[in-house]
Amino acid sequence: MKKLLLAFCLFATGVHAQSTDSVTIRKIYNEILTNSPSYEWLRELTQKIGPRLSGSEGAQKAVDWSKQLMEKEGFDRVFLQEVMVPHWVRGAKEVAYIRNGKQKITVPIAALGGSVATAPKGVEAQVIEVKSFQELRDLGPEKVKGKIVFYNRPMDPTKLNTFEAYAGAVEQRANGANEAGKLGAVGAIVRSMTTVLDDNPHTGGMRYATGVPLIPTAAISTNGAELLSKSLKENANLTFYFKQNCETLPDAKSYNVVGEIKGSEKPDEIIVVGGHLDSWDLAQGAHDDGSGCVQSIDVLRTFKALGIKPKRTLRAVMFMNEENGLRGGVGYADYAKKNNEKHIAAVESDNGGFTPRGFGIVGTAQQRANVMPWKPLFAPYGLHEIGAGSGGADIGPLAQLGTVLFGFKPDSQRYFDFHHTGIDNFEAINKRELELGAASMTALVYLLDQYGL
Ligand SMILES: [Zn+2]
Repeated sequence: MKKLLLAFCLFATGVHAQSTDSVTIRKIYNEILTNSPSYEWLRELTQKIGPRLSGSEGAQKAVDWSKQLMEKEGFDRVFLQEVMVPHWVRGAKEVAYIRNGKQKITVPIAALGGSVATAPKGVEAQVIEVKSFQELRDLGPEKVKGKIVFYNRPMDPTKLNTFEAYAGAVEQRANGANEAGKLGAVGAIVRSMTTVLDDNPHTGGMRYATGVPLIPTAAISTNGAELLSKSLKENANLTFYFKQNCETLPDAKSYNVVGEIKGSEKPDEIIVVGGHLDSWDLAQGAHDDGSGCVQSIDVLRTFKALGIKPKRTLRAVMFMNEENGLRGGVGYADYAKKNNEKHIAAVESDNGGFTPRGFGIVGTAQQRANVMPWKPLFAPYGLHEIGAGSGGADIGPLAQLGTVLFGFKPDSQRYFDFHHTGIDNFEAINKRELELGAASMTALVYLLDQYGL
């Protein structure tokens, strides 16, 4: 009987907690959908400041801007964490064309971040098209030497989660120059990471392996890749020309920007919510990742606006240098370790400002199981994909400290229309979708703060 009574009481408190929580979450959504300044913040970050590649003037302006913004919002503490970041610059715009007999057809390319320049007059050579590293290795050095390797494996359009399609193709961008250079190629051209056929080349990070020749590498637009492939079928002896002027300068000093609300009951337990402040240089970095930054600041603003005093310490973190080095994410975890900080959970928004679908979780089976009772609280808002998944690049290094990671998951269908292109601008963001993301993140942080893990 006693046992039964206890069970009943537990059940009753559980139900009670759920209903208070659902009321609070409704308030969170109402507040953000009515009063959120996040869209206007994003307008400032993207249109007034613009591109924010690590080491650039834009990146420094974004540091100052986000610090001032969080101070103005009256968070308990706003501080900077110094990190040294790579400083790569694109230089003058790239030029590329296919020379096919007497025809010279210009195609859009963008140097990959980290790449070396071509010789000042450019590089021109015959082209070897491959779909995989294995195919390239099978050709061997005698067929590859002196040529430009053209990686043309598309993202798999049948994958419903476009990030999986991206993961299946992106090694060509990240390591293509290394594999081609080892076999004596003079350049590497990579099909852009998107399923759309258009004229926007998608830049992105690459890194030279130690000991390989440093050959220049660039992304070609998908239309350009289709044309090059078709032309090669007609004339295997055509040549490709490209010229790029990029350069790696000495590492530059930069910062993560952190805003904090101190916990009232367990101030030593920290919950992080963040995005990355840096962006590629071709556009304003609206989806990647201005949206994640303003959403994260809005999480803390909403706690204050609703008068919710968090039990645990909440931090909005603007990470620096996700795109070409991850120094901010690594640095943040280093500081946490050095200062003996206990981070119970970290939430990252770096998958675009689209309609929320759920959260990916990186943690133990038990930690994931602890989150499952919250699922019904998210269902009315369209978040159904809550379970094992990926967290985020910047929060990744916190995993070694036992932090449970949450990756905010918006709808992924349109993300790779914009990712790392010249069109990832403010106009690409829908205000309500951005706000729904901020509200979903706030609701999750609220539950993490209430119950821990
Ligand atoms: Zn990003």
